[in-house]
Amino acid sequence: AETYGAVSGRIVRSFNLQHADSGRVTQHVEIALPEGTTYCEGDHLGVLPVNPEPLVRRVLRRFRLDGSAHLILEAGGKNIPHLKAGVPVRLDELLSRSVELQEPATRAQIREMAACTVCPPHARELEALLVEETFQTDIRAKRVTMLDLLEQYDACELPFARFLELLPALKPRYYSISSSPQVSQDTASITVGVVRGEAWNGKGEYRGIASNYLAGLEPGAEVLIFVRSPESGFALPEDSATPLIMVGPGTGVAPFRGFIQARRALQAAGKVLGEAHLYFGCRNPEHDYLYRAEFEQAERDGLVTLHTAYSRVDGVDKCYVQHLMKQDGELLLPLLETGAKLYICGDGSRMAPQVEQTIMDSYRERSGASREEAAEWLAALEAAGNYVKDVWAG
Ligand code: FAD
Repeated sequence: AETYGAVSGRIVRSFNLQHADSGRVTQHVEIALPEGTTYCEGDHLGVLPVNPEPLVRRVLRRFRLDGSAHLILEAGGKNIPHLKAGVPVRLDELLSRSVELQEPATRAQIREMAACTVCPPHARELEALLVEETFQTDIRAKRVTMLDLLEQYDACELPFARFLELLPALKPRYYSISSSPQVSQDTASITVGVVRGEAWNGKGEYRGIASNYLAGLEPGAEVLIFVRSPESGFALPEDSATPLIMVGPGTGVAPFRGFIQARRALQAAGKVLGEAHLYFGCRNPEHDYLYRAEFEQAERDGLVTLHTAYSRVDGVDKCYVQHLMKQDGELLLPLLETGAKLYICGDGSRMAPQVEQTIMDSYRERSGASREEAAEWLAALEAAGNYVKDVWAG
């Protein structure tokens, strides 16, 4: 917590934005901020998660340890900032808050496990996992953890202290703030896509650490948080008359909810608002159209024009935001030429590159530019701060 200057927030409200029939959960979580913590639209909330009890219990069981025991770690000449030496700490607390328990095993971890395995055939099996191809397919792709391997190989006598040292620090997870301080200065909301699904290692259900932790917090619960402004300049333009093109399918819509709330406040203050287009996408409007009522009200109030793409509606072709943007080239390009600000938020692996490609294609159609010139044009928009991205790997 000290590393990040984290403070304690309190859950005010938390609910699933998706319909019960969707089979997925996107949790709207509102957090009361302690005095002195401020934020802007487009900022990120860093959350320090807590490992779930069943995962911690698995570690305790494997090493035959009592979670309520207290221990004092000895530095032994090493400096491991997330494992504080010299102070008493409860073992289950340490395992809950300090280390990643669900990351795929690394080569260094497997090598050390093999060296500590007293049964030679099992030691050889572990060593075989270090062969590049096997490591990629059997460990990384399936996200097999050091704990999984320890459970599988009883003969591995890796000491608990070494297990702890080999684990990476528990990372904060970042969420785009989905509210505006102009509406709620003392609370910030986040929009959390909850990671759950059949585990890639074939063993039951996989649950992402932070998203499930957040979704499980009841109102009144405390959570360690900190606010960060993205370096990309993902913020509302200073001049409210600047037109906005916002592209945010799924949870990528989060910061734009904050932008639209801010526009409502600006409108009420009599400010001139430039036009604003929101490209939102989801599977099915009956299931996962996040904040639908709010956005539709905002559209009626002249705060935004909605463009919605649905990818899983029976009997209808799949449509993604980039398909709508392709159709709207004649709307978007003139806006960009006259200084509109373009924002893309969400999936950085597939959606964002495809949206970029669509925009460059529209530019080429309109101007006759080459591929290289279109790429230079987009890079120039970005350099001028008229195009900003807030994207992450899914
Ligand atoms: P983790 O415990 O970190 O697990 C995720 C890992 O598990 C991934 O590597 C994934 O590939 C893997 N995985 C997924 N499914 C399975 C499976 N079935 N079996 C095995 N492994 C699997 N998220 C939002 O929801 N809303 C936001 O507004 C948001 N904003 C972000 C902004 C930024 C700048 C960044 C960097 C990220 C943002 N994220 C956002 C993503 C968020 O930070 C977390 O990465 C996400 O919530 C998952 O964290 P987790 O701890 O729940 O999952």
